[in-house]
Amino acid sequence: MQTIQGLPASPGIAIGPLWVYRPVLLNVTARAVADVAAEWERVQTAVSTAQSQLAALYDRALAEVGAEEAAIFEAHQLFLEDPALLEMIQAAVEGEGINGEMAAYQAAESYAEMLEAMDDEYFQARATDIRDVGRRLVACLLGVSLDSAAMPTQPVVIVAEDLTPSDTVGFDKEKVLGLCTVRGGPTSHTAILARSLGLPAAVSVPLRLNHLPEGEVVVLNGRSGTLTLNPDPDALAEAQAEQQSWLALRSAELAEAQAPAVTTDGHQVEVVANVGSVADAEMALTYGAEGVGLFRTEFLFLDRETLPSEAEQIAGYQGVFAAIDEGGRAKRPLVVRTLDIGGDKEVPYLGFHDEQNPFLGWRAIRMMDERPDVLLTQFRALLQAGVGHDLRIMVPMVSNLDEVRRAKGLLDEARQQLVAEGKPVAESVQFGIMVEVPSAAILAHHIAAEVDFFSIGTNDLTQYTLAVDRTNERVAKLASPFHPAVLHLIKMTIDAAHVQGKWVGVCGEFAGEPAAVPLLLGLGLDEFSMAATAIPTIKRLIRQFSRPQCRDIADHALRLPTTELVAAYLQGQIGG
Ligand code: PEP
Ligand code: MG
Repeated sequence: MQTIQGLPASPGIAIGPLWVYRPVLLNVTARAVADVAAEWERVQTAVSTAQSQLAALYDRALAEVGAEEAAIFEAHQLFLEDPALLEMIQAAVEGEGINGEMAAYQAAESYAEMLEAMDDEYFQARATDIRDVGRRLVACLLGVSLDSAAMPTQPVVIVAEDLTPSDTVGFDKEKVLGLCTVRGGPTSHTAILARSLGLPAAVSVPLRLNHLPEGEVVVLNGRSGTLTLNPDPDALAEAQAEQQSWLALRSAELAEAQAPAVTTDGHQVEVVANVGSVADAEMALTYGAEGVGLFRTEFLFLDRETLPSEAEQIAGYQGVFAAIDEGGRAKRPLVVRTLDIGGDKEVPYLGFHDEQNPFLGWRAIRMMDERPDVLLTQFRALLQAGVGHDLRIMVPMVSNLDEVRRAKGLLDEARQQLVAEGKPVAESVQFGIMVEVPSAAILAHHIAAEVDFFSIGTNDLTQYTLAVDRTNERVAKLASPFHPAVLHLIKMTIDAAHVQGKWVGVCGEFAGEPAAVPLLLGLGLDEFSMAATAIPTIKRLIRQFSRPQCRDIADHALRLPTTELVAAYLQGQIGG
């Protein structure tokens, strides 16, 4: 028996024969072409073939998996229409006489590398999508079918180097017990897909694919992120028991997902979702989201050559409102975060420069001085899109009071402009800030008086409090929001807001962490915002505690001196 440790990506236990996925190999070699015009013509034909394949995959994903997965293939089609990508390929073919396959491969690769260099895991994970699209285009140029890879014939635990969206949609879902990849992080496509299908998954599992006992029974544990080869009878029996209780728990959680999260002493907290698109918002409702606690607006700004216009932004925000308000049948809160981009994210039209420490550089709200137009346009678009809805706007990366005042000043300016222009303006819009820089938490008592709410971004708050780069795998172990210093900052923020009668949410990953539930309830958190699929679990846990009980738990946790002690203590409070 051998247990290999990776990273947990989607909870659950899969027990079954191991099956190694081997994608079709594409052999791309460079070759000089004489007739460059004919070669570019060939690339364009391949682009339309790839587009039709993606349209078919879209239909298949929609029928078999759901709207969210299908949306990936819509995005892939858009990548193939992206002038920046096509111009890069055209320049290589027509300018340098490089063959289409090589030009397409290189263009996709350099695009993917650009995404990987960003400081946001979500965008890093999109590099896989670009490589997937590039592969499809190359395959079309080579005349090779990507669907010719061997497929499982019985239910199996799939092990792969990495999985692209096309790979995963290509599998017959009845034959997949769990997914395990050598590469990829917890926000990789494999992880997202596994969570939306409710399949156990582990990623970053250090395996050598050619040395695995194919066909033998293995245990994949998505909660611990491990793969056990040759499990002995005891380990197998234990895994089977754990699997049964997990299945029972998950179906109970899902059955109650639409009910409110009320503590045993009758206190209701708001449980909402983090989204980046209309498709995310639609899916979030099916998991019991009561609204959106963080709408990351970056996607409207990336992958284009000019700023999105006010009208384009209005349409984007209205799409999310329409999704969460179910076409006007409900009025759910939408917390929109203004553009959080910067440093190492290449958005050429915004005038970024290379920086030594992009995390500490010109990003997010710090752009306001040089480019007030960007925030002003976003505010104008939001105020117009928010008419008749529950709109809450927050600004990211605030580190001092002055930024809060200037951002509010711009919001007022946007409102006055719209009134003067006779345009409709949303009433009673809440204004808040993300608390994700330690200085904002420390000064929360001053800032609270000037905002309607705080939303704590524990991902960045942890990074900046502990001086740990959140994208650096070598120091990933240090980046724990259970660190006592982070907990004290969370407490300071909540206390300061409550003294002024303001509400506080958490929209970092910590809100979706089961062991954090009694702690955050005990500290008095009003709103939990998380990845949609975590909502049923978190709601069920909230319903198991009373506030007095949680206050005692929080008091105890805050007296502990190390991350390990805090994490172990809180894990114990939720039963393991
Ligand atoms: C955070 O920092 O916790 C957060 C929610 O924002 P992001 O992960 O987008 O930086
Ligand atoms: Mg952040």
